[in-house]
Amino acid sequence: MNPYEIRKHFPILDQEVNGNPLVYLDSAATSQKPSAVIESIDKYYREYNSNVHRGVHTLGTKATDAYEGAREKVRKFINAASAEEVIFTRGTTTALNTVARSYGKANLSEGDEIVISYMEHHSNIIPWQQVAKETGASLVYLPLQQDGTISLEDVRKTVTSRTKIVSIMQVSNVLGVINPVKQIAQIAHDNGAIMVVDGAQSTPHLKVDVRSLDCDFFAFSGHKMVGPTGIGVLYGKKELLENMEPIEFGGEMIDFVGLYDSTWKELPWKFEGGTPIIAGAIGLGAAIDFLEEIGLEHIEAHEHKLAAYALEKMSAVEGLQIYGPMDAKQRAGVVTFNIGDVHPHDVATVLDAEGIAVRAGHHCAQPLMKWLDVSATARASFYLYNTEEDIDKLVEGLVKTKEYFSNVF
Ligand code: PLP
Repeated sequence: MNPYEIRKHFPILDQEVNGNPLVYLDSAATSQKPSAVIESIDKYYREYNSNVHRGVHTLGTKATDAYEGAREKVRKFINAASAEEVIFTRGTTTALNTVARSYGKANLSEGDEIVISYMEHHSNIIPWQQVAKETGASLVYLPLQQDGTISLEDVRKTVTSRTKIVSIMQVSNVLGVINPVKQIAQIAHDNGAIMVVDGAQSTPHLKVDVRSLDCDFFAFSGHKMVGPTGIGVLYGKKELLENMEPIEFGGEMIDFVGLYDSTWKELPWKFEGGTPIIAGAIGLGAAIDFLEEIGLEHIEAHEHKLAAYALEKMSAVEGLQIYGPMDAKQRAGVVTFNIGDVHPHDVATVLDAEGIAVRAGHHCAQPLMKWLDVSATARASFYLYNTEEDIDKLVEGLVKTKEYFSNVF
């Protein structure tokens, strides 16, 4: 399917915004949803809405089959060894907090180090800051090269026998760079540390294989990969998860409850306290079916092509500064930029008047903004439904923005 055919599956894209056809370039914040995903959730609520793992009635069995069926789809999608290793969470943030609060708290003490990079999203910084404060461990930052990439030589220097946890994003939501997490995992393991991967921006765009990466934990969100909001996944190696304590307690996750003590269900349910995110998991399953039908290899190739086209066209706009490597092969479909001294919020406002949706701000990456020496940037992010025409419109919009703010050039 070419992007024009793909677009027909996304009803939201067929509309005008401020009198112009919508050009949606904010998929790194959240992707749009195809009809198949919307309909899967609609069908659940209309036809078999029921709680899972509880009653023996027909609707309950249907809902349980659909919920656990979605888990199996996720398992296959990321090539986990077993469905016990797939825990449904609210998103990447909850998944990373679970690792920090459960594994981190139990395994860190004074003198230990947690290694993260300057480009991490706040969701992969703050949970580690908190657990470091509680345990006396130290947070150590992996430096970045001038173009915003990570060098393995720096990883070898930074990760030592003191390191207990390395936690790195596979694809940056700001710079778009694809990090060598497989090689970083190898270095972490050579030093006796575990490897956590923030896959929020990689899972939607490239084929993820957790066993090939040999990461110990992997986190991602459904809403960035054409699925609904409120559902995400924590993958963890079974031997690690089995030895971890849950962080939420209540219904669904227990085996036996006594007056003063309780025991937990087996994996993965001991980490899914309370009524689970049933509609979300079903929607995520439908999203996986949709992406697999198109093919992750196809999506990845399409985005590399769009990134190359965008880098070429955007760098021809005088006064526009693009952050991150200029080689499209090193990035996914994210281009972050500033135009002269125009505030990125003003850039986004002018583009919005043209019907073009981009994100402006610090992108939940304030340490990276500091490293780039800016307070904020504008960001255009592409997905399977974007076309070169969308990028042409963005470039036209940027030229208009420059004209509008010609006083600052
Ligand atoms: N990590 C990265 C790289 C992200 O881009 C995001 C979301 O923007 C997150 C983590 C957090 O994801 P969520 O808000 O879905 O939990």
